[in-house]
Amino acid sequence: MDKKEALRIFETTGALQNGHFLLSSGLHSPTYFQCALVLQYPRYLEQFCREIVDYFREEDEIINVVIAPAIGGIVVAQEVGRQLGVRSIYAERENGKMTLRRGFAIDPSENVLVVEDVITTGGSVKEVIELVEATGAFVVGVGCVVDRSGGKVNLGVPMFAVYSTKMVTYKPENCPLCMQKIPLTKPGSRDVGERA
Ligand SMILES: [Zn+2]
Repeated sequence: MDKKEALRIFETTGALQNGHFLLSSGLHSPTYFQCALVLQYPRYLEQFCREIVDYFREEDEIINVVIAPAIGGIVVAQEVGRQLGVRSIYAERENGKMTLRRGFAIDPSENVLVVEDVITTGGSVKEVIELVEATGAFVVGVGCVVDRSGGKVNLGVPMFAVYSTKMVTYKPENCPLCMQKIPLTKPGSRDVGERA
């Protein structure tokens, strides 16, 4: 997808907002991205996931299962799994540790595609990769809708992002928006948007 077209979709759905935002990290940013606002529309979810599917279909390994870290990635995993015609599961934290619950299991013989909505530092995705590898299964790669590291994050496996951009952040003491006295807003709850 054309970068401009993706940007247009993010802006019209309210997923990408411009202003002066306080992130959960304590940093300030001129933009705030809430992926759930674009993925609430099935046609956009389908369109973005189609790109992930097309990219990984060209790999040699046949994908047997798609997995995402909860919560944001679950809808992406569900739709990618639907398009590939394979199982879709998710990992969630239990006592801080990324775990397979609900009877979800991965066979050591399986090829696994890890997906996520937004990757910022890649922390959660890295934990899911470790979880999958610990089962003996093979991680084909990672597909995400938005890479906010601008391609900087290294997950040690092939990675594809539908949209990649470097997130602009400022320390409060050096924030040009603060200097311009633009009101600071704190969007969403702690776990929304700016996740590791
Ligand atoms: Zn500021």
